[in-house]
Amino acid sequence: MSTITTFADFGFSTEIYEAVKAKGYEKPSPIQEQAIPILLSTNSNLVGKAQTGTGKTAAFSLPILEKLAVNNKKVKAIVLTPTRELAMQVAEEMVSLKGSKRLRIQTVYGGQSMGKQLDALQRGVDIVIGTPGRIKDHINRGTLKIDDLDFFVLDEADEMLNMGFLEEIEEILEYTNDEKQMLLFSATMPKKILKLISSYMSDYKLVEVESSQQTTHLVDQIHYQLKESDRFEALCRIIDCSKEFYGIVFCNTKREVDEINARLNERGIESEALHGDILQAQRENIMKKLKKHKCNVLVATDVAARGIDVNDLTHVVNFQLPQDPESYIHRIGRTGRAGKEGIAITFVSKNQTHDLMFIQRISNTKIRKGELPSVQDVITVKKQIIKDKITNIIEHGGYSHYEELAQEILEGNDPEVALAAILKQAFKDQLNIEKYTEFVVPQYDERHTGARRDHSKGKSNTSRIFIALGKKDNNGPRDIVDFIVQETNLKAGLIDEVRVFDAFSFATIPTEEAETLIMVHKKLAKGGKPLVTIAKDRDDERSGGGTRSGGFRRDGGGSSRGGGGSSRSGGFGDRNRESSGSYERKRFKR
Ligand code: ADP
Ligand code: MG
Repeated sequence: MSTITTFADFGFSTEIYEAVKAKGYEKPSPIQEQAIPILLSTNSNLVGKAQTGTGKTAAFSLPILEKLAVNNKKVKAIVLTPTRELAMQVAEEMVSLKGSKRLRIQTVYGGQSMGKQLDALQRGVDIVIGTPGRIKDHINRGTLKIDDLDFFVLDEADEMLNMGFLEEIEEILEYTNDEKQMLLFSATMPKKILKLISSYMSDYKLVEVESSQQTTHLVDQIHYQLKESDRFEALCRIIDCSKEFYGIVFCNTKREVDEINARLNERGIESEALHGDILQAQRENIMKKLKKHKCNVLVATDVAARGIDVNDLTHVVNFQLPQDPESYIHRIGRTGRAGKEGIAITFVSKNQTHDLMFIQRISNTKIRKGELPSVQDVITVKKQIIKDKITNIIEHGGYSHYEELAQEILEGNDPEVALAAILKQAFKDQLNIEKYTEFVVPQYDERHTGARRDHSKGKSNTSRIFIALGKKDNNGPRDIVDFIVQETNLKAGLIDEVRVFDAFSFATIPTEEAETLIMVHKKLAKGGKPLVTIAKDRDDERSGGGTRSGGFRRDGGGSSRGGGGSSRSGGFGDRNRESSGSYERKRFKR
């Protein structure tokens, strides 16, 4: 398997191979590299776990398209997807990947004319792609028979279950023949999915791709600390100051999506809103506009944005912090795709610092702190844009009908004054510095920059923390400092009095970070012993901490080089098991 590096190595038929080439895919993605050979050479069931945007669609579509015969009397493959968009996207992908092979592919989802679907089904189709609800309708009406399938695919299975489709899926499965290849693809593997798998897929092969390696390496993740009331202004400024902005702005509620979208439009920033209440026809229009770059800003909720298949987004903005680390990973996975770099921005207010740290910790990524563009930055960018526009007009001509007027205006005025007036008319107040206000960065920030270093040395501003990592895990003072830096983003210089014992260590750090660190680890431990706690008193240290060392479970720390990654691939569900293992993983990774 590891020898597969190009699509040519799979041994596809000419039709399919040509289609892949025409599609412009140069290299199989990791999930494709793993899944395709298995599906081509065996009849095993298969479970595939990989993040959004990793090419799961082609991973199952290519083998299906390759293996299916043509001119079938009955439906040979069925693909269930959570939403109509996804059904359409899978269909689109399949149609393009089948090339000249005469396979008939039909989508079936609510909101599309029933008549059209019926006609197609009657004429005969080989592959049906649709949402569970509508597929079940057709089965019940007797207009769709699925008792001679070669393939049964559950795509984005986690999302289907989140949307409450389990019952429909089970009912649909009742109608299928036993000897079929069953494939399940999902970005996450919560318990519900594992249960579904064990009930319906007695034997299966598992392929999975590490999420961290997929989502984050090309994404520059930045967070901005700001006042609640500055969120909107900050968003506008980021859009204004980006050379190119083609992105999704995530909000947590429909109401907020509508509000932000309306305010952006008021500001002259073209955007569209997408959430669960947007009608299907409108959704399709919005997606078209977005894909054609007729609008470059999409304001959306998580659910509405799921499955949106736009490849070259430059930005993802978390206008609101996502509810959990998993959504964070999903959201930022929408950018930094197809080998392009992306920027993921997260707005955080003061009371969300703990949550941000938690997300960063769980998703094992670095969300660096950024500084919002200043008023001067905006003015500089806007000036350049105006200059470019004018230069562009001068280069392209077409202004001769204004030349006479220009002469007349110049006769009575200074050229500079005349030009400034015209610019004011054309660009309104865009360069008026008074129209912008500087952000007031919450003052707790300063400590990160070291500005309050002296204060932080004072007793009341620092705290002593206890960390259940010590010499026997091969940690020295340097490792403990590294650990704290990774977990808090503190500068190493702000970490004092590090003492390492056999099974644990102590350090003194600014109280603010100490609180965050302790909160995060309390959350991580979920009732168990946290890796980091407040140090009880100095006697512990003097006595070598003997009283506490027995209390900490320290299993697994040593073997984490190999096991580090896989503890995550099981999903975030087991995040609480062994927090020290994660630290080890981080350390080895660097
Ligand atoms: P997933 O289902 O894992 O979220 P998709 O199958 O929708 O991801 O693929 C994401 C995008 O990547 C799609 O636009 C798809 O056309 C593109 N893609 C898939 N495979 C490749 C490949 N091997 N090379 C380049 N782009 C690919
Ligand atoms: Mg998909």
